[in-house]
Amino acid sequence: VDRADLIVLGGTVFAHAGAVVRDGGVAVTAGRVVAVGTAGEIAGFAGSGTEVVDLDGGMVLPGFQDVHIHPVSGGMHAQRCGLHDLEGRVAYRDAIAAYAAAHPSRAWISGGGWSMDAFPGGTPTAAELDAIVADRPVYLVNRDGHGAWVNSRALHLAGIDRTTPDPARGRIERDAAGDPTGTLHEEAADLVGRLVPEPTAAEWEEAVRIGQAHLHRLGITAWQDAMVTPEIEAAYRAVAASDRLTARVEGNLLWEAGRGMEQLEDLVARRDRGPVGRLRLRGVKIFQDGVMENFAAAVREPYLDASGTPTTNRGIAMHEPDELAAMVTALDAAGFQVHIHAIGDRAVGDALDAYAAAAAAHGRRDARHCIAHLQLVHPDDVPRFGALGVVAAAQPYWAFADAYLTDLTIPFIGPERTRWTYPLASLLRAGARLAFGSDWTVSTADPLLEIEVAVTRVDPASRTGPPFLAAERIGIRDALDAFTAGSAFANHLDGTGRIVPGASADLVVLDRDVLDPANGPVGDAAVRMTLVEGDPVYVA
Ligand SMILES: [Zn+2]
Repeated sequence: VDRADLIVLGGTVFAHAGAVVRDGGVAVTAGRVVAVGTAGEIAGFAGSGTEVVDLDGGMVLPGFQDVHIHPVSGGMHAQRCGLHDLEGRVAYRDAIAAYAAAHPSRAWISGGGWSMDAFPGGTPTAAELDAIVADRPVYLVNRDGHGAWVNSRALHLAGIDRTTPDPARGRIERDAAGDPTGTLHEEAADLVGRLVPEPTAAEWEEAVRIGQAHLHRLGITAWQDAMVTPEIEAAYRAVAASDRLTARVEGNLLWEAGRGMEQLEDLVARRDRGPVGRLRLRGVKIFQDGVMENFAAAVREPYLDASGTPTTNRGIAMHEPDELAAMVTALDAAGFQVHIHAIGDRAVGDALDAYAAAAAAHGRRDARHCIAHLQLVHPDDVPRFGALGVVAAAQPYWAFADAYLTDLTIPFIGPERTRWTYPLASLLRAGARLAFGSDWTVSTADPLLEIEVAVTRVDPASRTGPPFLAAERIGIRDALDAFTAGSAFANHLDGTGRIVPGASADLVVLDRDVLDPANGPVGDAAVRMTLVEGDPVYVA
């Protein structure tokens, strides 16, 4: 037997959903897996120079891969007024006041991460901010990135008053008299956002490092960045060029809704600058709608009003179906992987139609196109994922009954459509390739908490109450598979996502075997070590 550089043994090996070895181990040489087997077999690979990691009854899995995440915005938020980890208005107000006091020379107070459910109707007011900071403009993006909370000084600087029309793909929240109240939805946020000073290149690079360190700590070895702006691209390239990008990053460039087909040339040019280190940019992200809570997700049948009566509002489709099909067909022909944001059932259907149109135009290729979010999927569309080979890029953490669902969504879609919410088990049963991601900083980036919700559909903070749509819970092996092999497939990172001979030794070591229910809720497990190509990138 050859000697290995590294052996990991003495616990459970989740090699992939079809291969679990209890009291097993893994041998690694030159960054690749050379053997998976029982602890006894793997011990035979030990030599004088072999590093030995004792699982101590814990578990080793393929490194987690996040199929839809914004790590660099996360790292930037950490350098701004960040509210993500806080709950409630009082905590927000204290944090904003503390940040303003600590940064007296910042011309703008910017940042974000507030949650809509902390405010009546999901819409905080300028007056509440004015009481904290009146002399400087404040611009705070909400947790899901689809709106902003601003103070009166910011409204004034942007020239927003009762005479300002709503932009085409956005809405200014107003009082009965028509005056802006301080919440700006979707593209209305840009009216103020474009005035906020841009971060420096050094701050963007620091954001990559902060985001990466956070994700390695959570056992994540690769991700699909859902939106790589030119600033974020430059930062990734700089970090990768100096060998500090230890994660594998698949990046999506943004299709700008306000521009036409001529942008294809720019996207091709950016992609064709080529990969650097572990960075590759070969996807394009398209927004097809907004979010449910502000009625901007595109739905087939209109939203209901507070009394349950149908309105005439079917949300905002960013692109007409034929326009979306033409865009996707052109991107597919140019060799891009397309990643469509679709929350409402109409947006999901339009996205599937567009992928079908691309396949009809020039045949199916191994594109692994994705649809992300999938909040409301019409039952007729569930089998189309498998049939079209479209990856269901889901955010399992969203599938419990939090206030976003119970107060801000369910009353406005009614009971029938509520049953179509995050239909993970239905998608799996119908043959969809499921991949998991967090959409951090929208919600936690912790795969173990996300997997817990996929399995329980109960709030992992309280762990009480009935599951939300119990029939849509999935098994723990399927959930682990979606966060490893499923996302690796979606990320085109073949040779990762499974622990098999020849695969890259991208691994995560947990303190317990999460397949054994006796070890408690999955979300309580802790990451002990994260490795990429056999090198530790995080050690607890
Ligand atoms: Zn996103």
